[in-house]
Amino acid sequence: MTTATIPDLQGFETYFGLQVSDVGEDGSVIILGHHHNEPRRIVAALNRHAREFWGLANLVDDQNPGPGELADSLAETYAVARCGAACRDDQCGNCERVRAGQREWWITWDVAPGTPHSFPATVWRP
Ligand SMILES: [Zn+2]
Repeated sequence: MTTATIPDLQGFETYFGLQVSDVGEDGSVIILGHHHNEPRRIVAALNRHAREFWGLANLVDDQNPGPGELADSLAETYAVARCGAACRDDQCGNCERVRAGQREWWITWDVAPGTPHSFPATVWRP
């Protein structure tokens, strides 16, 4: 079994030591890595992202979110990063541009564990 390497992608903000970025157009947010037993840290990072990056009260833009409302929408998954270029590299998940942490990238998440070049990620879906 290969060890998952989390790529050093640009465009992530760091809050409480967690790397956070918006992904997709539905308001989903991805956090690099799995952070077992740290739901409070994850929620704190996501809320700070929502305040600083989106200008909202918190992730759900609700001053009084119900208990667990934020954490319940978190899922641990596996993801593969692809370079934003029209990559002809069959190994794009680990291609030169991905390894170089290039600015433009996209991520496929919910891939099966063990997918080549996949890495652990945590996704929050609105
Ligand atoms: Zn590539």
